[in-house]
Amino acid sequence: MADLYLETGDEALLRALERQWRDMVNRKLYITGGAGARHEGEAFGQPYELPNDRAYCETCAAIASIMWSWRMLLATGQGQYADLIERTLFNGFLSGIALDGERFFYVNPLLSNGLGEVIGRGGHERRPWYLVACCPPNVMRLLGSLPQYCASSDARGVQLHQYVAGSVSVGAVELRLDTEYPWQGAVALTVERTAAEPWTLSLRRPGWCAVATVVCNGSSVEPPLVDGYWQLDRTWQVGDRVELTLEMPVRLTRAHPRVEACAGQVAVERGPIVYCFEQCDQRRQARPRPRPRTDPGRNNCPRRRRPRPRPRRRTAPSRCAASRTTPGPTAHPAPCASGSR
Ligand SMILES: [Zn+2]
Repeated sequence: MADLYLETGDEALLRALERQWRDMVNRKLYITGGAGARHEGEAFGQPYELPNDRAYCETCAAIASIMWSWRMLLATGQGQYADLIERTLFNGFLSGIALDGERFFYVNPLLSNGLGEVIGRGGHERRPWYLVACCPPNVMRLLGSLPQYCASSDARGVQLHQYVAGSVSVGAVELRLDTEYPWQGAVALTVERTAAEPWTLSLRRPGWCAVATVVCNGSSVEPPLVDGYWQLDRTWQVGDRVELTLEMPVRLTRAHPRVEACAGQVAVERGPIVYCFEQCDQRRQARPRPRPRTDPGRNNCPRRRRPRPRPRRRTAPSRCAASRTTPGPTAHPAPCASGSR
């Protein structure tokens, strides 16, 4: 449908796409960018139906979301679509592949006790392959095409959507990006080749970023922010340097109050990353309980034990130091939709 709009320019199609996208982001999307609450039908659920343990969140669905948002970004130039691409890339999508690149998740639940499987598709452990192996090749395809999602160009200039170390070459223009993003918020861009006439460098200001600075050739600047992009319009010279600093404090994010599964909980985020807390490979929970003795001919009644003395009550210290030192939680959903910011 998005491709059809890009071909035909039919505004009714675009309006419908925007409504569908807002409905997904505001009511049916996990904080990781994962999509699909129900295993039955591999489907979205009702609005705000977002169970963490039974989440479907197929890796392919995250990839499809990225592809859709990319088309919406091309159609509108609005940074909210690049924001969702980023959130999904680093969280809902990248969870689908192990660090060694050899094992995959089919579904990506947000909560697991490390036990059991979910309808035979690997459940909570990554596997080398699947009987229905749609996700692994889709992961390879997206990773192989990742550079195309990072930058674009039009008659006005160059737009940078994702901050990834490397170079961007468009016609007469070449830029070099140096950054440790997403672990650090410093991004340095150097003009290595440029056209003689002026052009506009558009840099996405991530939706999660509350405090940022832009420095051009050593001087702090305040370029206009249009649709989520800083726009630096000038006659560029080889060697010109732009430095972004995107502050990355730890954020505590709470769900919309209608998300029942997240009542009384917060997510921990920093920059574009949603953090996961894991007990080392879940061993304590995964160890089977000892089975009761049922030898025939023996008295199988449990032996009575002397009751243990009750521990004396103590006032427990706060278990989460971060909750005392960080600002209050912010709301989700949706991190990317304009209606929630
Ligand atoms: Zn799949």
